[in-house]
Amino acid sequence: TTYFNNGTYLEKENMNVSIDDRGYYFGDGVYEVIRVYGGKLYTAEEHFTRFLQSAKKIRIDLPYSIQEFIQIAEKLASENEIQDGNVYIQVTRGVAPRMHNFPGEQIEPMITAYAIENLRPFTKLESGVAVKTVEDIRWLRCDIKSLNLLANVLAKQEAAEASCAEAVFVRDGIVTEGSSSNIFGVKDGILYTHPATNLILNGITRRVVLKSCALESIGVIEETFTLDELYKMDEVFLTSTTSEITPIISIDGREVGNGEPGRLTVRLQSVFEQTIKQLEQE
Ligand code: PMP
Repeated sequence: TTYFNNGTYLEKENMNVSIDDRGYYFGDGVYEVIRVYGGKLYTAEEHFTRFLQSAKKIRIDLPYSIQEFIQIAEKLASENEIQDGNVYIQVTRGVAPRMHNFPGEQIEPMITAYAIENLRPFTKLESGVAVKTVEDIRWLRCDIKSLNLLANVLAKQEAAEASCAEAVFVRDGIVTEGSSSNIFGVKDGILYTHPATNLILNGITRRVVLKSCALESIGVIEETFTLDELYKMDEVFLTSTTSEITPIISIDGREVGNGEPGRLTVRLQSVFEQTIKQLEQE
C-alpha cells in the first residue's frame, strides 16, 4: 500500500509519526474522508474545498490547491487499486517541541493520506439502524472538521454499548447532528435538518441531499428542531460520506414511524444512487 507523506509516496511500514507531531499532542489539525466508487472520487472538489476552509479556520496554510489535492487522492486510489473505498487525508500544524502556541513559520504542516477499500453499507442502507441520543458536549466550532474528536469518540462508544449504530447529539434540547453524520427528519412530506451553523459540520452528503430535494421539488426547512420533535418525525435518516443515506428506524428504543425505512428516505436513496451511477459513466 502506498501512503502520501508531504509530497512523497511511501509504503505503510515506512510511515512514521513523530512524538512531536502537533496532531499527536493536541489534535492540532483537520481532515477529510472522500468516497471512491468504481475507482472514481465522489464529490472530490467539495471535499477539498472544505479541507482548505477547515485548514484556514485554524490558520494552517496548505501548500496545495484543490486540483493538486484531487490528483494526490486519485493517485492513491489508482495505485492501490481501490474500487470501492475511502481516501483519508489529514494535515497537522507540523512537528515541533511541545508548546501550545504555534511553532514558527519555518515549521511546515504535516500532510498524510491513504486510500483504503471499504464496501458500501448495503445491509444498513436497506434495513436502517438504531440510534441513541447523547448530550452534545462539543466546542462551538463544530463547522471545522477537526482532528479533535474526543466528544465524538465518547458519544459513538456510548451508542455502541447500547447496540446503536450512531449517537445523535442534542444541545440544549436541540438536535444538532450525529457523532459522524448529519441528521434529517421528515414530517408531513417536508424535510427538516439543522441549519449549517457553527454547531454542525456542513456535510457534503447533506449538501447532496439538499440539492436532490431542490431538483425533485421536495420541501426543505433548514431550521432547528427539538428532541421531542425528532421522536415524532414520520421518518428520520442520517447522512455521511461512508454511510450515504442511512434510514434511522429507532431512537432511544422508540420506533420511528412504523419502524421501517420511510418512503421519502427511500426515494432520496434512489436519487443518491443515480448520482453514483452518473459518476461511473463519466
Ligand atoms: N458531522 C460530523 C460531526 C461528521 O464527522 C461527519 C462525517 N465526517 C458528518 C457530519 C458528515 O459529513 P460528510 O457528509 O461530509 O461525510
